[in-house]
Formats: sequence, structure tokens, C-alpha cells
Amino acid sequence: MSHKLRVGELQALYLTEEQIWRTFTTILTTRSKKSATYKYGLLKAMIENLYQVDEKEVVTYEQLAYSFAKIYWNLVIHHGLEQGTSGSAVVNRLIEIQREEGIPKDITFDKLDATIQVKATTRIKTVMKTNVFGALYGDTQGSFYAFDHKEERFQFNRAVLSFMRKYQLLMVDLVNYHMAKMIEKLNDVPHINYLLEKVESIAKRSTLKPFERVLLQYFEKSCFYCGKHLNKGQAKTHVDHFIPWSFVQSDQLWNLVLTCSHCNTSKNDKLPVRDYLSLVVERNEVLVGHQEIVTQNQHLMNYKEEKMIHLYDYSIQNGYENIWLP
Ligand SMILES: [Zn+2]
Repeated sequence: MSHKLRVGELQALYLTEEQIWRTFTTILTTRSKKSATYKYGLLKAMIENLYQVDEKEVVTYEQLAYSFAKIYWNLVIHHGLEQGTSGSAVVNRLIEIQREEGIPKDITFDKLDATIQVKATTRIKTVMKTNVFGALYGDTQGSFYAFDHKEERFQFNRAVLSFMRKYQLLMVDLVNYHMAKMIEKLNDVPHINYLLEKVESIAKRSTLKPFERVLLQYFEKSCFYCGKHLNKGQAKTHVDHFIPWSFVQSDQLWNLVLTCSHCNTSKNDKLPVRDYLSLVVERNEVLVGHQEIVTQNQHLMNYKEEKMIHLYDYSIQNGYENIWLP
């Protein structure tokens, strides 16, 4: 009964890629007893936090619960996919909040008031302690991560963390596909493509405005790539994911830059030419130099220059070879 565990220690420190692939394939394709989509939800939350770990490969329960709450809110409330597990604790907690607060169903998670997001994260964290962390830990024979309910810390196996970063794009596609497949079985929906599109977007924010406001407080109103001044009107300010969103699957201030609409549109899903990497690293040095932003953005807390460089190199390895120049 591994999901009842309160602490799980790492059972295997040294894993080969082959061993990780084998475990990964097994957890993706085996239907769990409760046929819940939790394991996919946790894997998605892990992917979203691959670059948020501290120097000991640790992320907090808070970070994972936030991602998990967002993923399920968008799936269950926003898209109305109850995933067939109407008795499931995650679904129930979110429906409770939506009803208590009288929130319209089409609202996405990132549009919720911060206090509601905190409420949802806290409640989901409790469910994850009972139903999620121990379950996937058991499914992986304790080889992927260690966890501790009391300290609320989740520690990646270093080998698994490197593996997930290295094959991130493939991970994302595999998890999304299997999650969609399971939801398809549990819901009355037209076709798996209908679902895949939704699952692919549940981690995505509908607006990057809050990040734009923060960046505008500290940096000149000009395009990160071409330097053009961003006036109102024709040169509207855009927020661009330096490393494409389709790869990082998350929105972190250290990966977001202000651009003009022309650069943002023409760059699209491409990686900028390497010269910009040192510029974004410099820019981030300035960001983390402001203690007040770091306090407000827990995502900056574990930012390291090396992570940005690795991320850039991993995106090339994952097939982002079409390099963009402004
Ligand atoms: Zn530009």
C-alpha cells in the first residue's frame, strides 16, 4: 500500500537510461487500479518543475501542487472533462471551490484570484499527500524520487531529472498522449484528437500580462531582440518565451522577454540564435539582483545561469534546430 506512505526514500541512485525508459514505459501504459489520471498529472507537474529544483534536486510540495491544481482545474472545470472519476478527491476539491466561490466554469486557472489559487493549491496538496506521491512512488519502485510529507519536499533522483530534461519533448508528448487516451475512455467525447488538443493546452496560461508588468518595472520598454522602442499603438508589447513554450511547458520569468510584435510573430516556436543566450543570462542577473522580485517570484529563487544554458542546449538536442535571427 505504497500510497499510504508518509516518507519514501530513493531506492535506486544509479540508473541507466535503459532502466529509466523501461520504468517510464511501464507506468505510462499500465492502467492503475483506480484508473485515475493522477500519475499523468504528477508527471506533467514534474515536467513543469524540471528547472525549478534547488541544488539538491528538491522541489516543494507547494510548487508541484500549484502545477497539479492548475492542470486539473483547466481539465475538469474549464474543459468540463470530469475524467470519469466523479468520486475522485482532486475533482471534488476543485468543484467545491468553484461552487463555493461562484466561479464561472470557463475561467482558466491563471485568471483566478491569487487567494483562490492558494486555496486550491493547499487543498490539492492534501489530496496529493494521500493519493498521489506515494502511488507513483510505488509504481516506480521508489526509483524516480524521494518524498517526505512532514517536510513537504520532493526530491528527484538526479539520473531521472537529467533524463527528463534530455528527453523532455518526447516526455511531454508521451504523457499527453497517454493522459488523453485514458480520459477518452472515461468520458463521452468525439475523438482522441479532440482531447489531445485540450490536454496539450492545460498547462498553458491564457495571459502573460502579469509577467509583462513585472518586466516593464525593471527594464526599458524596448524589444529584447531588435531593440525597437515599444510604443503604444503600432508597436504593441509582446511577451516571448525565449526558449519556446512548446519545449519548456512552463512560464518562468527568467525565460520571458519583452518583444515587438514583429519579432514575436516571426520567432514563433523557434530558438533564438545563440548570441542572445548571453544577453538573456545578463538580463536575468539583473532580475535576480532585485531581492523584491525574487521574494515575489519563487521561480527565480532557484534560477541559475547554468540551467538556462543547459535548457538551451537541451532544446537543440530535442530537435529545435531551426534557429531564428531577428
Ligand atoms: Zn523586435
